Amino acid sequence: EQRLVLMDETAIRRALTRIAHEIVERNKGIDNCVLVGIRTRGIYLARRIAERIRDIEGKPVPVCDLDITHYRDDRVKAEDAGSGLILSAELEADPDFTVHDKRVILFDDVLYTGRTIRAAMDALMDSGRPRSIQLAVLVDRGHRELPIRPDFVGKNVPTSKQEEIQVSLSEIDKIDQVTIIQQ
Ligand code: 5GP
Ligand code: MG
Repeated sequence: EQRLVLMDETAIRRALTRIAHEIVERNKGIDNCVLVGIRTRGIYLARRIAERIRDIEGKPVPVCDLDITHYRDDRVKAEDAGSGLILSAELEADPDFTVHDKRVILFDDVLYTGRTIRAAMDALMDSGRPRSIQLAVLVDRGHRELPIRPDFVGKNVPTSKQEEIQVSLSEIDKIDQVTIIQQ
C-alpha cells in the first residue's frame, strides 16, 4: 500500500476559499441560495463554505444536511423514508423555509461515478423543486457513469479504479488532508 498526500491543510483552505468566491461570483451574490451538504463529509464542506460566504458577503446563507441513504439506485425506495433533507435548527424553526425555487448548491467530498449526486438530485426534487442545482466537490476522481459534472472543484485527480481517495476533515478526523491510496 502506497500513500501520497494530494492536499494538506493549507491547500484545502485555499481551495475552499476559492470555491466560496466562485459561488458568490456565479450567483451574483448569495440571495436565494441554499447550501446542501451530503452526509458525511459534504456537510462539513458546506458549513465551512457558508462561513466564508458570510465573511465575503456579510450575510448568512442557509445550510442543510442531506442523507441520501434511501435514494441510492441500488436500494428499494422506502416510501416513508422522507426526502432525507435535514434542516439546521434555525431553518427548522422557520415554517416558511423550503428549497422550492431556491438555487441549491450541493456539496460532496469526492465525485466518482455520479450515482450519489443523481440520488441527491432526486431527493431535492422530492423536497420541493429547486430553481437550479449546482455541484461543488473537494475532489473529482473521474470514472463518471452518468452525465454529471461539477460546477466547483477543489482538485481534479485522475485515478485508476484501484486507487482510493481518503478525505480527512478536522471536524471528524482531527486533521485536514487529502491522500491517494494505491493498493
Ligand atoms: P459516486 O456515487 O459518484 O460513485 O461516489 C461518490 C460518493 O462515494 C461520495 O459520497 C464519496 O463520499 C464516496 N466516494 C467514492 N469514491 C470515493 C473515494 O475514492 N474516496 C472517498 N473518500 N469517497 C469516495
Ligand atoms: Mg460520501
